[in-house]
Amino acid sequence: MTPLGELLENAPRDKLREVQWQKLEELLRLVSGRNRFYTEKWHKAGISPEELKSLGDLRKLPFTRKSELARAQDEAPPFGTNATFPAEAYSRVHQTSGTTGTPLRVVDTPESWEWWGQCWRLVLRGAGVTRSDRVFLPFSFGPFIGFWAAVEGARQLGAMMIPGGGWGSLERLHMMRELQATVLCCTPTYALRLAVVAREQKFDLRSVPVRVLIHAGEPGANVPHTKARIEADWGAKCFDHAGASEVGAHSFECELQPGGIHIIESEFIPEVIDPQTEKEMPPGETGELVITNLGRPGFPVIRYRTGDLVRLDLQACACGRTLARFDGGLLGRTDDMLTIRGVNVYPTAIENVIRQFSAVDEFQVTVERRQEMRHLEVQIEVHSGHEAEEVRARVEQAIYGALSLRPTVTVAPPGALTRFEMKARRFHRLDQG
Ligand SMILES: [Zn+2]
Repeated sequence: MTPLGELLENAPRDKLREVQWQKLEELLRLVSGRNRFYTEKWHKAGISPEELKSLGDLRKLPFTRKSELARAQDEAPPFGTNATFPAEAYSRVHQTSGTTGTPLRVVDTPESWEWWGQCWRLVLRGAGVTRSDRVFLPFSFGPFIGFWAAVEGARQLGAMMIPGGGWGSLERLHMMRELQATVLCCTPTYALRLAVVAREQKFDLRSVPVRVLIHAGEPGANVPHTKARIEADWGAKCFDHAGASEVGAHSFECELQPGGIHIIESEFIPEVIDPQTEKEMPPGETGELVITNLGRPGFPVIRYRTGDLVRLDLQACACGRTLARFDGGLLGRTDDMLTIRGVNVYPTAIENVIRQFSAVDEFQVTVERRQEMRHLEVQIEVHSGHEAEEVRARVEQAIYGALSLRPTVTVAPPGALTRFEMKARRFHRLDQG
């Protein structure tokens, strides 16, 4: 698997494109005729991969949708027709977290697992993590791929990995202090949760030497007020990372934190399209991320519609990396933009408002239909020591001020709202169907 991603981080963009094309050609050669899913898909679309003569020709291939991968799994359970090689070639199986629909199984060979780790090593390096760091993972190691790949990345980097699964939050805090953890990888929600537990248990969070937090699994590290709050609670820098089980660990934030995440273009080819017309969007405009991964021939995704909204930024980064960026990180999902009384709203925009209030420990948002109109219901939990009604009124006013929408904000009793360790589900839609 050469050249290594990090050798290409600063490469001229022409060189990057050349590498992408070489890897794409090799991938298509491996997949064509062996991988039933893509062979049949391309045959149906009337295109043969041999017709691709340059990187730009990639757009001749059809898009891949998650629903197709799910069908491919049903057709040939348990691993599906997208598994290129015989079952014995694979050494790992994981599945998507199943936020929506049936979990999708993904399989890796020893080589593609190594590749996952290489990408995660770049995520860690991007945040300034070195082999002298101690990386704490408060993660219960189930079938979700998420932080498993972080373990492999830490191994490749040579940093010490501290497994913190299966424990309570307070025990984890003590362990981090005793073992002098310097890096914490978890969801943004869980970083905030640990801070609340520390406060409630009178545990001094600043006695834990964590200096870097790396977040994945949900937005948050790219939501300015959530990021600021995590950094203030921990006295550490908080980094965003994006990836997906069916794609790989594709983007990371560099130490200069330019307000976006770098895409590991030596291992992934990103495209941005209008989700409705499917036309390519120019850099700077928001559209759906379509991605091709180059290092997982045993379970590839080629022109995969991620459902994530991004804005491509090709400007040079002061860190020296030539890798393009997603400005503002993943901006939302194509299916979670809401139009309420003519106003377009993303859940992350609501989160950004609520996280300004350090008195709010947890929140939940429900979209309802009232007399044919969508309405926003927000529940907040206010931590003791604050005047709940005053906080409630301020949150309501702030949401109105930021989004020109009048929500109903109510105060939930302490501990009433669900707490999350993995992907948080704070947004509920009761306006559909
Ligand atoms: Zn950078």
